[in-house]
Amino acid sequence: MTTHRRYELAATAGAVILAALTVACVYRSLYAPALGLALGVAVLLEAAVRERRRHHRAVAEAEWARQRALGLDPGPLDPCCLLGRDSRGAAHSNCTRPPVEES
Ligand SMILES: [Zn+2]
Repeated sequence: MTTHRRYELAATAGAVILAALTVACVYRSLYAPALGLALGVAVLLEAAVRERRRHHRAVAEAEWARQRALGLDPGPLDPCCLLGRDSRGAAHSNCTRPPVEES
């Protein structure tokens, strides 16, 4: 279990608890606190989705590194690295693409 997976589970649990409190507030006609709690639910759900994505990336990178250590050629991941997509291919860090040989 990666740290990202633990964060995902914690954020999901927090979102469930806040959602239950939101429903309880609405049931008692406490709309202002319910609005704040609903915002908290949205933030925690976004965090859970983000951590889930990071967990899957970490697992894929670990499997890629394992295959490389065994001498296999697993091919680059998609996206190849965290900087690759954001920089539109201009910069790479800890990249899974094969290095470009300059002639
Ligand atoms: Zn890259």
